[in-house]
Parts: sequence; C-alpha cells; structure tokens
Amino acid sequence: MSQTPLLSIKNLSVDFQLSGGFLTKKVFLRAVNNVNVDIPQGSFFGLVGESGSGKTTLGRAFLKAVNIADGEVEYSDDEVTYDLRNLTKVELKDYRKRAQLIFQDPYAALSPRMTVRDIIAEPLEVMGLTKTRDETDKRVREIAEKCRLNLEHLRRFPHAFSGGQRQRISIARALVSSPNFVVADESVAALDVSIQADILNLLKDLQKELGLTYLFISHDLSVVAHICDHVAVMYLGRLVESAPTRTLFNAPRHPYTKALLSAIPSLDPDDKGNALKLEGEIPSPTNPPPGCKFNTRCAYAIDICRKEEPALQPTGDDHEVACHRWEELFEEV
Ligand code: SF4
Repeated sequence: MSQTPLLSIKNLSVDFQLSGGFLTKKVFLRAVNNVNVDIPQGSFFGLVGESGSGKTTLGRAFLKAVNIADGEVEYSDDEVTYDLRNLTKVELKDYRKRAQLIFQDPYAALSPRMTVRDIIAEPLEVMGLTKTRDETDKRVREIAEKCRLNLEHLRRFPHAFSGGQRQRISIARALVSSPNFVVADESVAALDVSIQADILNLLKDLQKELGLTYLFISHDLSVVAHICDHVAVMYLGRLVESAPTRTLFNAPRHPYTKALLSAIPSLDPDDKGNALKLEGEIPSPTNPPPGCKFNTRCAYAIDICRKEEPALQPTGDDHEVACHRWEELFEEV
C-alpha cells in the first residue's frame, strides 16, 4: 500500500503450544503462517475470515499480546519506531499506551464492581500517565465526552447500562491513554443492528478527531464494507486476498472471498441468489491440507492446488491474491 505504514509485518508466524513440556515433546499449532501486511497510518483496515481463520491471533500479534514464532513486526509513528520482537520493558510500557484493544463483549469486558469512572481511569493509573486524582478525573471526563457518555453516569456501575452504552465505556477506556493504533476485535458483533450503526459512526468520528488508525476484525462483511477503506481476507492462518474495500467487494479475485461475499444477504428482491456455496468447515489448523489450504472446499481446485501453496502476489491496483488460478478464473469468480 502506498501510504506510510504505522505497522508493518513481514513473514509473521504465531504458534500455540498444544501439549508437551519438560520431559515430553512439545506439540505446536501454527495459528498464523508467514503473513505479510502493512497497515497505513490513518487507515480503517479490515481483517475478515471465518471463525478459526487466525484473525484474532494476528490482531493480538500487532498488540504484542502473543508470542511471535517467526518474522518481524515494526511499529513506526511520528515519535518512535519499535521492533515489537525486541522491546525493552520501558518500550513495552510505552507501546501499551500507543496501541490499544476494544473488546468484543461489552458485557464481559467491564468489571461489575468498578464505577464507570474507575474503569476508564484504570489504564491511566496502571501506566502512570497521570499524577493526581484531579488530573485523572479531568482526562476521564474529556474522553467520556468524546465517546458521548453522560458525565453524570461516571459514578454508576456498568450493570446500569445498555450494550451500546457499555461499548462506549469500553471505547473510552481503550482511548484514555491517547493511543495511535486501536484493534477493534468484533467490537459490534454482540450489539443490535441499530446500535451497531451508532457505534460504527462513533469509531469513524473518533478516527477523524483523534487521528486514529484501526485494525477492524470482523466476520461480518456488510459491516466491513460500510466502514473500512482496505480489507484483508484470512483463511487458516494465511492472508489469501487484500485490496481496497471497493475493489474487493466489486471484483474479488480469490474463490474464498467470492464465497464469503456471496453469503451476504441481498436486499434486491430480484436477486435469485446465485451464491457460490462454501461447503464444509474450515480444516483444523493442527492438520492443514497440503498445497492451497482452501483446496478442500474450492470448486476450482486442480492438481497443482493440492501440491503447491500459492503465495500472496500483487495483481495491480493495490490488490493482492494467493491463488494459482486467479487470472483464468477472474472473469468467472
Ligand atoms: Fe482454489 Fe486452487 Fe485457487 Fe486454492 S489455488 S483458491 S484451490 S483455485
């Protein structure tokens, strides 16, 4: 992508240990495999895929919240450049201030025993970003107002609020340390559709006002189409397609992306629904198929697909795809 990347990852892999230990052989699951992607400063970058595709793990890798088995992750804003695999304790503390997470479930994410004021203030106190209670209160009120929370509610407990209000509290907590980069992991998935639109508009407004860069992780392509400017598609720990949102939705070049898009319900009463069906389940990452990882569900799979894994390659116009047959299938897909 052309703009300066705020985050850049190269050949990134993340493993989780499944079993083994001191005396027995360790067994690992590769959740993210050899991913390359840049997130431009100021972008609303979407990451989509089915459950089990590795998108949440990739988001956590950007936050230095999982162990990186291989590859590089570089963060670079106007003030600092960090190699996330080699941070000192002081740098890690500083990075936590610059990169934050908005949780998926606004009901589970907030402690029922803390007031809204204390929930939002906690990151400031843990990171030592304010010195006095007055200073903390001032910052809490400031960010609460930006997140359109009623200041009189700061003394209440989370159970008194609806899902949408709780998500505003979660957003205020994530933004109170003035981060540049925010990972929003399925941040509207637990909300009603009308509330979703409200929260998405708030995220967009905050992006403009505070100059934020988002990684927006979602399984819901209609939400991603509404809000993201670039979208990457993941399947079984790999990126299979990446393109500006309009391009990806109008002219997908990977059969998996096409199948995901076909599954979005149409509002057109004349649409007879020639959906490209996604059969079966995503294979287990403990036993991935050889070659293209999508070959067990792809209607276009041929011999080479079962033997060689296609690399993600540029196809023009900031569009990348990992498919042996994208050129010949392009018209059909
Ligand atoms: Fe389908 Fe083969 Fe392309 Fe994989 S490489 S998506 S199996 S056509």
